[in-house]
Amino acid sequence: LAKDFGRNSFRFFSSEQHQQIQSRYQMGSDLQAALDNGEFQLYYQPKVCLQTGRSDSCEALLRWLHPQLGFISPVEFIPLAEDLGLINRIGDFVIAEACRQIAAWRKQGAEINVAVNVSAKQFQQGDIAERILATLQQQSLPAHLLSVELTESCFLYCPEETKRAINTLRSQGIQVAIDDFGTGYSSLSYIRTMELDTLKIDRSFLVNLGDSEVDRAIVTSIIEMSHILGLKVVAEGIEHQSQMNILKQMSCDQLQGFLLARPMPADAFINWHQHQKA
Ligand code: C2E
Ligand code: MG
Ligand code: MG
Ligand code: MG
Repeated sequence: LAKDFGRNSFRFFSSEQHQQIQSRYQMGSDLQAALDNGEFQLYYQPKVCLQTGRSDSCEALLRWLHPQLGFISPVEFIPLAEDLGLINRIGDFVIAEACRQIAAWRKQGAEINVAVNVSAKQFQQGDIAERILATLQQQSLPAHLLSVELTESCFLYCPEETKRAINTLRSQGIQVAIDDFGTGYSSLSYIRTMELDTLKIDRSFLVNLGDSEVDRAIVTSIIEMSHILGLKVVAEGIEHQSQMNILKQMSCDQLQGFLLARPMPADAFINWHQHQKA
C-alpha cells in the first residue's frame, strides 16, 4: 500500500496499478467463495515409468473454474491463497478430494498412487502430517497410495515443522517428493539431512536437454546422485521425444509431461489409465 513507501513521501497509484490491486482484491474475495461454491476441481497428470512405459501414479493439480473468468492458473491463485490465509482450507480440500478419488478408483479395481502438492504455509500449521493421516484413515486407504510433493521453500520457511512432518509421513508409508528440484538456493543442503523418496527435476533443466551440454551434465549428475542416495527420479514437463530418449539413456525413473499426457479430469484420467493397460 502507499503508506509502505514511508511517512513523508506521497505516492499515487497509476490507474494500471490501481486496477491490479482492485482485481487482486476482487480475486481474493472470489477465492473465499470458491470453496463454498464448489469451484475447485482436481486434475490428474500421469507419471510414466521409463523402463516399462506404464503408469500407476499421477499428480493431482488444482483447478479453479471462476464463474466469470473461466479457468485461473494455480500459479496465480495459490500465492494469493497463501497471502490471504486461505491455503490451509484449500489444502485440506485437495487432500480430502485426492483421498476420496483414490478410494473411488480402488473400488473400481485401479490402484493408483496420487501425489498432492503441499505448500509451506500448510507445513507451518504444525499438524499437517496428522491431518493427512487422519484423512487417509477416514477413507481406509493404505498409505502407499498417497504421495506428498513439497518444494524447498518449506525448508526455508519452517524447517522444523517440515522435517517433523516428513518424518511422520514417511514412517507411516506415505512417500515424499521434493518438487522443482534445482530451482532453490540450497537444494543440496536438505538432501544431505532429510530422508526423502523422490526427487522431481525441474522442467527448466530439461527444456534444452538436446542442445545444452551443461544441462545434460547437471541432469546426469542429479540422477546418479539420487540413485546412490536411494531416491527415485522424476523428470517434469517433458514435451519432446528427444528429451525422453536422452532421459532413458540417463536411467531416469519416471517422466511427466505433455508428451505423455496432460493433466486431466478424473474421468479422462481413468480412461487413459485403462487404455494404456489394453
Ligand atoms: P508443479 O507441482 O511443479 O506442477 C507441474 C506444473 O507443470 C503443472 O502446472 C503442470 O500442469 C505443468 N506441466 C506438466 N507437464 C508439462 C509440460 O510438458 N510442459 C509445461 N510447460 N508444463 C507442464 P499447473 O497445474 O499450472 O500448476 C502449477 C503449480 O501450482 C504447481 O507446480 C504447484 O506448485 C502449484 N499447485 C498446483 N496444484 C496445487 C495444489 O493443490 N496445492 C498447492 N499448494 N500447489 C499447487
Ligand atoms: Mg508438484
Ligand atoms: Mg514441479
Ligand atoms: Mg512448479
